[in-house]
Amino acid sequence: MSYTSSSITKRKFDVVIVGAGGSGMRASLQLARAGLNVAVLSKVFPTRSHTVAAQGGIGASLGNMSEDNWHYHFYDTVKGSDWLGDQDAIEYMCREAPKVVYELEHFGMPFDRNPDGTIYQRPFGGHTANYGEKPVQRACAAADRTGHAMLHTLYQQNVSAKTQFFVEWMALDLIRDAEGDVVGVTALEMETGDLHILQAKTVLLATGGAGRIFAASTNAFINTGDGLGMAARSGIPLQDMEFWQFHPTGVAGAGVLLTEGCRGEGAILLNNKGERFMERYAPTLKDLAPRDFVSRSMDQEIKEGRGCGPNGDYVLLKLDHLGAETIHKRLPSVYEIGVNFANVDITKEPIPVVPTIHYQMGGIPTNINGQVVVQQNGNDRAIVNGLYAVGECSCVSVHGANRLGTNSLLDLLVFGKSAGNHIVEFASRTKSHKELPKDAADKSLARLNRLDSDAKGEYCQTVANDIRATMQQHAGVFRTQASMDEGVRKINAIRERVGGIGLKDTSKVFNMARIEALEVENLIECAQATMISAAARKECRGAHTVKDYEHPADHPTAPLGRDDANWMKHTLWHSASNSLTYKAVNLKPLTVESVPPKVRTF
Ligand SMILES: Cc1cc2nc3c(=O)[nH]c(=O)nc-3n(C[C@H](O)[C@H](O)[C@H](O)COP(=O)(O)OP(=O)(O)OC[C@H]3O[C@@H](n4cnc5c(N)ncnc54)[C@H](O)[C@@H]3O)c2cc1C
Repeated sequence: MSYTSSSITKRKFDVVIVGAGGSGMRASLQLARAGLNVAVLSKVFPTRSHTVAAQGGIGASLGNMSEDNWHYHFYDTVKGSDWLGDQDAIEYMCREAPKVVYELEHFGMPFDRNPDGTIYQRPFGGHTANYGEKPVQRACAAADRTGHAMLHTLYQQNVSAKTQFFVEWMALDLIRDAEGDVVGVTALEMETGDLHILQAKTVLLATGGAGRIFAASTNAFINTGDGLGMAARSGIPLQDMEFWQFHPTGVAGAGVLLTEGCRGEGAILLNNKGERFMERYAPTLKDLAPRDFVSRSMDQEIKEGRGCGPNGDYVLLKLDHLGAETIHKRLPSVYEIGVNFANVDITKEPIPVVPTIHYQMGGIPTNINGQVVVQQNGNDRAIVNGLYAVGECSCVSVHGANRLGTNSLLDLLVFGKSAGNHIVEFASRTKSHKELPKDAADKSLARLNRLDSDAKGEYCQTVANDIRATMQQHAGVFRTQASMDEGVRKINAIRERVGGIGLKDTSKVFNMARIEALEVENLIECAQATMISAAARKECRGAHTVKDYEHPADHPTAPLGRDDANWMKHTLWHSASNSLTYKAVNLKPLTVESVPPKVRTF
């Protein structure tokens, strides 16, 4: 039975939030507490969102265990971003950090404690005291289950604030009116297979990352970049999508993450000679250099024949010297992961690890209020009325070309709250909803009916696997121009096949094949944005390392071939034209002096 507009139900809210991870629920809490009528949609039960998997900690310069202040955090984040982060947003985040962490503590977050009762903080990659001098203890942690503790805390607060959750509802498309304002979303109720229109004064996207465009990923299976797909299909560009973070320590062969908190607690990386090789690459921070640095160093060790194992294709993470007691107290999940995914008892022997896709630095462009911004009439940051984005799907941009560990959970709290506050203020001034356009659900109806009409079409997971294999091969830790150009050709060809995906079973009730097919339409937007943006950026910066541009003779101060003269700019990928525009990085912080670009050593 095909989908028709007459069978669509309509509901009205002040605000619709798509996504019940840390960012969505931090925002919804602000809204529900202000008395707004807020609906939060999630493909899974809220506490199963990927935030639940975050292990290591939340960055904030509390200074509980070593001298710290937000200026150091600001400097580290700018440097970590390889100067692609917008310094106004970075300053805002680092200044707000202690406030949002204490707020979370007061919501009931079960942080680990120091003997004096203050929040326990561990060192983390790229976080330093005194502008790079030595590692600092800045990551506020609840053992190695920080995201778990945070997500449950936020969920409970939301239940108490009477947030309405729509669990196992998948948002499909943004609804924009003739003026381009966002006035709601369409969504599929997964249990019944019915299509709904949810009208709202404001829509906030908090759909998390798209880590599933890669074959080997630390991300949950639901991380298919839906919010990015929705934005891209409705004419909103995706920013800085070439920058994907490889986490140095995914379990080799399994992809499951071992938190950087391991190295924060003192674990070290070894090659097949038993050498602590990070001492050579980053003499000051060693194993606690930022992730792009450590991942490249590991890859280099493996490529130069110093990898471990029968195929020499991984390195080892050694933890046993921390002692079983510390491991069971501070890293209990890492211990379990070792046993379950690598058959290794980390209290006794080292565990095989490889760099694994972990985080997208790019996303839907926003300002520090969470408002989505686009280029319009010469303005690089024109506001799209009615649309906000926060969390990993957004790009504000605080992470630039490389995120520091612990800065994502922080980003969720800071910008979830600031977007919430901004929406409350807007809602108080806006008495009525804008009208829905007549064709509000047409795009979604067309997508659903096309899938249903093509029983002989290609199976969605065959196409998805080809997307993942292509990204893995052509957008890895080290890239070359030729390989990226080939990746662009392949991914453009796969996009044609996405249009030919079909459903054999068109039944409605809990039809997961339909959900997965719709997800692939989001994966392709993210993959294409990534490949096109990567092939266009003719330099090395942060996580984007292109062999062809290493060590250019005319830029002797840039060890990795960063080209500040030409590339201090964000990429913006436009889906309809499959092309890019650019906008300048904001080097002006809000109140302090700018940190000028310099060589990045650790
Ligand atoms: C294994 C792992 C460990 C990590 N550890 C840390 C750490 O220690 N510190 C740190 O700072 N960062 C860490 N990160 C990164 C950080 O956890 C994530 O970036 C962050 O949690 C993302 O939160 P979010 O709110 O943006 O989205 P998510 O938590 O991913 O939630 C997305 C939500 O959107 C919903 N959704 C998606 N699409 C749709 C749709 N179409 N319709 C309806 N709902 C939809 C999902 O159901 C879900 O509720 C880690 C990441 C991973 C993968």
